[in-house]
Amino acid sequence: MTYYKYDQHTQAAQARFDTKYDIQPNGCWLWNMYRDADGYGQFTINANKKKYMLRAHRFSWLIANQCDWPSDRPVARHTCNNPGCVNPAHIIPGSVKENTEDAIRNGTHYNGTNSKKRACSTPIGNFDSLAAAGRALNVSTRKVWDRIQQGYAGYRYI
Ligand SMILES: [Zn+2]
Repeated sequence: MTYYKYDQHTQAAQARFDTKYDIQPNGCWLWNMYRDADGYGQFTINANKKKYMLRAHRFSWLIANQCDWPSDRPVARHTCNNPGCVNPAHIIPGSVKENTEDAIRNGTHYNGTNSKKRACSTPIGNFDSLAAAGRALNVSTRKVWDRIQQGYAGYRYI
């Protein structure tokens, strides 16, 4: 599979994308075109003589953050728990483990509204747990959690 890269981005693709969702009162941008079996919007792009089929929310995230999807964060986490939503502010790249944890927490602890600013920041590390991060950084587990909530650069990748 060929992954779509941000530098292949064209205005035409974006203009087409912008006609395919409806903004909901709750802030979600609901994809109004084809959705796959998992409820994710599908978006097809022709770029550099290749045809790319990708999930609409990933395209949305790429454009908003002006960078490629982080290869070490394969999962798109929806803070709104709505797979059909393509609002980049509701989408955070995550690990598979985090995605599972999101399901457990039901997404309520994540606030993606500032993700645009932090999305390309350098991760401070990749830890198995908040406690492990706290040990490595010599701060309390609670402190690590607080910093994630406060949007410290890099902390969102823990
Ligand atoms: Zn949403």
